[in-house]
Amino acid sequence: MELTEIYQELGVSPQVQAYCAAVEAGLKERFEAIDATAEYNQMKVIQAMQESRVSDIHFAATTGYGYNDLGRDTLEEVYARAFHGESALVRPQLTCGTHALHVALSGNLRPGDELLSPVGKPYDTLEEVIGIRDSVGSLKEYGVTYRQVDLLEDGSFDYENIRKAINERTRLVTIQRSKGYATRPTLSVEKIGQLIAFVKEIKPDVICMVDNCYGEFVERIEPTDVGADMIVGSLIKNPGGGLAPIGGYIVGRKDCIDRAAYRLSAPGLGKEVGASLGLNQSFYQGLFLSPTVVAGALKGAIFAANIYEKLGFAVVPNGTESRHDIIQAVTFGKPEGVIAFCQGIQAAAPVDSFVTPEPWDMPGYDAPVIMAAGAFVQGSSIELSADGPIKPPYAVYFQGGLTWYHAKLGIMMSLQKLIEAGLAVLPE
Ligand SMILES: *Cc1c(COP(=O)(O)O)cnc(C)c1O
Repeated sequence: MELTEIYQELGVSPQVQAYCAAVEAGLKERFEAIDATAEYNQMKVIQAMQESRVSDIHFAATTGYGYNDLGRDTLEEVYARAFHGESALVRPQLTCGTHALHVALSGNLRPGDELLSPVGKPYDTLEEVIGIRDSVGSLKEYGVTYRQVDLLEDGSFDYENIRKAINERTRLVTIQRSKGYATRPTLSVEKIGQLIAFVKEIKPDVICMVDNCYGEFVERIEPTDVGADMIVGSLIKNPGGGLAPIGGYIVGRKDCIDRAAYRLSAPGLGKEVGASLGLNQSFYQGLFLSPTVVAGALKGAIFAANIYEKLGFAVVPNGTESRHDIIQAVTFGKPEGVIAFCQGIQAAAPVDSFVTPEPWDMPGYDAPVIMAAGAFVQGSSIELSADGPIKPPYAVYFQGGLTWYHAKLGIMMSLQKLIEAGLAVLPE
C-alpha cells in the first residue's frame, strides 16, 4: 500500500496531504539545522555516559533507603557532565517540574531572603510556591519575600529596574527560559547569559537559577554554560526522552545542589537516600534518546507554524524565527478552532485515539480548558499534546511528539478537522 493511502485511511485527505507536503518541502534547510544540533547534543550525552563508565549494573533496582545506589549516583554524574554542572539531583522522588523548582528554591532560600524574577511573572504553578497567590506552605509563609521586574514592551530586559530591585536581601534570581503559556518571547541561552552577567556584576554572590523546562537540547548550549548556578526541569518533558515515567532534575553548583538535596530528603541525609526502584534504565535511556526526540518535537512545532501561518492564523513563534523551546501557539479566534485542533491531535495519537476531547472546568483555571493527550505517560508533554483555554484570543498551545512523523500526522489531522468544520480553507 502507498503511504498516501495509509494517510487517507487514517483520515487525512489527499488535498491536506498535498498542501502539507508543499510546506514541508520548504523547510528542508531548517530541518537540517535541527538535525545538526541533535547530532551535537547526542555526542554530548554519549560522551558523558562513556566518561561516567555507564554499565548494565547501573540499571539494577534498589529499594528501601537506597543507600549506595550506584545507578542513581552515576546517573547524577552523567547529568552533571552532560549539562556542565558540578553536581546533580535526578530523582523519581522529584515528582514533577514544579516540585523540582520548589525544592531548588526552598532549599536555597532562608527566612529574610528575597527572591527576584527579572523576567516577569513565572509559570502559573509557581505562583503558589512563591506565595504570589496565597497558599499554605508557600515561601512567603516562611518569610521569603518576592520581587518581580517585568520585561519591557519589546521583550527585552528592563536593566534599569532590575538594578534597582537588587538589594542586600536578594539571595536568588529565578529566570524562566520558556515563555510557557504567556505571550512574552522565549529567552535564548545567550540572552540568559547576558542577564546573569548583569546580575552578578551588581551582586556576585546571588544564586542564579534557570527554570529550564521545555528548553533542554533545543540549542547546543544550556544555561549552565553561561553562568547559571542551577538549572531545573521535568523528566516528563525534554530530558526524559519520553521514557522516564516520572521525575525531575536539578543540575549546578555543588553547594546549591546539596542544599536542595537536604530539602528533598532531610538535613543530614541529603543525596544519600532515595531508592531508584528500578527506574534507572528508563532515565538513562530517555536521556540518551532526548536529543533526537527534541529534534522531532521542534520539527513539528516549526511545521505547524508554517502550515497555519500560510492559512492566515497568528502563530507564536512565527514560521521563520529561531527557536529556544518546543512550544507552539496558534490563535484561532474562535472556540470551535481550538476544539477542532485538539480533536485532530487526539485522533492522531497511538493511545486513546478513539476518545474525543471536550472542554471542561479544571481546578485553578478561570475558563473551561480542552486538552488532547494520547500519551504513554500521563500528562507527558514531550509526547504530542495540545491544550487551550476556551477564552479570547482562543489560542491553542501544543508541544512534543516522540517522533517527527507522529507530530506531522497530528498536525495534518488537526488541519483536516478544521477544514471539515469549515474553519480553515486550503489555498487554491
Ligand atoms: C511545565 C513547566 C513547569 C512545571 O512543571 P510541572 O511538571 O507541570 O509541574 C514549570 N515551568 C515551566 C516553564 C514549565 O514549562
